[in-house]
Order: sequence, then structure tokens, then C-alpha cells
Amino acid sequence: MNIILFGPPGAGKGTQADNLVKDYNLFKISTGDLLREEIKKKTEIGLKIKKPVDKGSLVSDLIITDLLEEVVANKTYFNRMIFDGYPRNLNQVKNLESLVKKYDQKISCILCLKVDLNILIKRILGRKVCSNCGNIFNDFFNPANSNNHKCDSKFLQKRSDDSENIIRSRYVTYEKETLPILNYYADNGLLHQIDGMQEIDQIYGQIRGIIDSLEA
Ligand SMILES: [Zn+2]
Repeated sequence: MNIILFGPPGAGKGTQADNLVKDYNLFKISTGDLLREEIKKKTEIGLKIKKPVDKGSLVSDLIITDLLEEVVANKTYFNRMIFDGYPRNLNQVKNLESLVKKYDQKISCILCLKVDLNILIKRILGRKVCSNCGNIFNDFFNPANSNNHKCDSKFLQKRSDDSENIIRSRYVTYEKETLPILNYYADNGLLHQIDGMQEIDQIYGQIRGIIDSLEA
């Protein structure tokens, strides 16, 4: 089974991907990781992309498709991939489709975590971690108080330097990029929308339900 995971930044995709990797023996394929790996290993591609990646520029679809082909062609990953952060546009959707087809595989489902922008903002901006005991709190959803936290309040530190504007603009970009892709997969009957505002365990329960129904 090959899965594509979508969700705005801060939606908890990473946590859910880790759960899936562990329970279903899958491999998380992130194009960002693939690019960093090439740079680290100083491969021919790595040397070519180092500058643009350092500057935060986009790497061409051609290079990414080449890197992905190595992964998709690798027997270890056969039908055991979770794509995170890819595809980002319809061109990449087509590239991925022809790649998996070429190696006799298919995309089994698209999981999309939906979280309202206002909730995301509160999740990210409200998050605080205690540098003394390591517990994580949230000013909006789970504030530290004398019952749940014994350390001095000076240890509580904000987790993120993001401003509300940055979160908003990332969200808008995500929606704009993702909508045509989601529409495409909805037409193919592969799209599953998941309420990402539930508890983490509930979200994962729903994901398991979807995957188990595909396997059955
Ligand atoms: Zn503490």
C-alpha cells in the first residue's frame, strides 16, 4: 500500500506518519529528506542542488522525479511508501503516477488532515514547553496551572517564533497548492478527508479504519 499524506503545516501529519510507519511497516518518503541526503552524501545531484536548497529556492521537478525514481524502483520500499510533502502540484501528481505505474505499483489512498486556520493558530502560538520537566502545555487548550504543573512558571517557554501572519500565509499557500490536487484525487475516489481537530488517538483510529478497509 502506498499512501499520500496531506495537511497544513502544524496539523500533526508527522505524528500520524510515525504511527503508520511503526504499525504498518511503511517508509516515510519526504522529498526534503531525499534532497538533504544527496547534499550530505555529496552526490552529483547533491552538489548541483546545494546552493538552491540552502537559499530556500525550489529544486526542479526533474531532479526530484529522478530522486523519487530511485526510491520507487527500490524493492525495499515496494508498496510500502508514505509520501509526505509531495506531490505539491498537478505536474508532480502526474510524475508520481507514472513512476509508481512503471514499477508496477499504485497509490492506494490520499489521507488529508483538515484543521481550521483558527485552531492551527492557537495550537502553534499557544504551545509552551517547560524547560525544567519537559511537559508541554497550551495557553488555549491545556494551560499550565498549579494542579497540572509544579515547576516555577519562569521555566515555561514558547515553542515557536512564528507570528500569526506567517501561519496564515503558510496556510493560504497550502490551500492554494493543495486544492487542485485534492480535487483530482477526489474524482479518482482515492481521497479521504479526516477531521484533524480531534484528539491524536481519535485521528489515528480513523486513519487505521480507512487503511484496514483498503487492506481487507
Ligand atoms: Zn515543569
